[in-house]
Amino acid sequence: MSTRSVLVINAGSSSVKYQLVHPDTGESYAKGLIERIGLPRGAVHHTVGGTTHQLTVVVPDHAAAMSLLTQAFAEHGPDLSEVDLVAVGHRVVHGGADFADPTLITPAVLTTVEQLVPLAPLHNPGNLQGIVAAQESFPDVPQVAIFDTAFHQTMPPEASTYAVPAAWRNQYRVRRYGFHGTSHAYVSRRVAELMGRPVEEVRTVVLHVGNGASATAVDGGRSVDTSMGLTPLEGLVMGTRGGDLDPGLPGHLARVAGMTIEDYDRALSKESGLLGLTGSTDFRELHARRDAGDTDAELAFGVVGHRLIRYAGAFAAVLGGVDAIVFTAGVGENNPELRARVLDRLGFLGLRVDAGANEATVRGAEGRITTEDSAVQAWVVPTNEEWEIARQAADVVER
Ligand code: AMP
Repeated sequence: MSTRSVLVINAGSSSVKYQLVHPDTGESYAKGLIERIGLPRGAVHHTVGGTTHQLTVVVPDHAAAMSLLTQAFAEHGPDLSEVDLVAVGHRVVHGGADFADPTLITPAVLTTVEQLVPLAPLHNPGNLQGIVAAQESFPDVPQVAIFDTAFHQTMPPEASTYAVPAAWRNQYRVRRYGFHGTSHAYVSRRVAELMGRPVEEVRTVVLHVGNGASATAVDGGRSVDTSMGLTPLEGLVMGTRGGDLDPGLPGHLARVAGMTIEDYDRALSKESGLLGLTGSTDFRELHARRDAGDTDAELAFGVVGHRLIRYAGAFAAVLGGVDAIVFTAGVGENNPELRARVLDRLGFLGLRVDAGANEATVRGAEGRITTEDSAVQAWVVPTNEEWEIARQAADVVER
């Protein structure tokens, strides 16, 4: 096989996800996950041709993970020495205001990503470890960073600025950055293609609703507002994150419950959202429980839907009108009932749901879920962050 490919790597603090992808077609040749890095028992899962090969093994660090990755390709294919590997594309969560584009990784770029660690303490360190390990394993292949924040660097200052003291903004880089940019970039471009219109002419609200969730207003292919901010905690209700809150809440809890910042941070990122409302993060379980008359599940469904309606309506106004509302990610792609809840409320925009199409568009299907005469179209577009990373990485090295 001598096919142009990009090895896409998404390295976290204790796991490395990878996929070998054709940058033009999105074809995936193999994918895998190395998990529980640094823990007593790790594992490798390598999927090729529909078969998953598993190995239980100790993975002490990211360098070991990268050796296991190359070993998995050598044993189960495709043979990386036979592949035209044009780049390794790394997902990096926080690019701050420094990176508005995919970027060829140099020592200076690594230093800047390291300086951004205080803005993404849970993510950037793992991303960096993945880059360093991949540079050692693939010394002759260009390495490219694709930042989750980059797509949102086009937000105008009025959307990216918090009304807080100047010292916070100037010294501590406090502003709205936004995340999930790779997904929003892919989905907003793809929906324009599906609509048969130039992306420059389309105003889109993208609702990425998965375990993490964010909404973005995209005007002519450029992000002009998004629901996540300085951190990925702002905005929509998520699996374990509650999204928007009263900024007075931490002070209140410190006074009445003696809560520390650490307690507060942990509760808001790991114990809130669907989990906080129902005890489970799984939307499928939420449905089963709603059907059985569970009032917590009913309330959670209402809260998730209400927040989505708020953002969809607000972003339609930010855009001065909207051509398409698009749902993506695990819940957005698979949950017709939530989509109907949101879209029915947008009837005042002239949006008309096609109930049959909405019910039928699940499990990886792309499709329009509004009627022919609907003034605003709604779509389901499965996201494909790996393809978007591969495409952007190849663009950088072949530019
Ligand atoms: P993601 O983060 O994009 O992988 O999405 C994860 C979320 O999608 C979880 O809350 C899942 O419960 C939800 N999800 C996945 N498949 C389905 C499905 N068939 N129906 C409803 N929700 C689903």
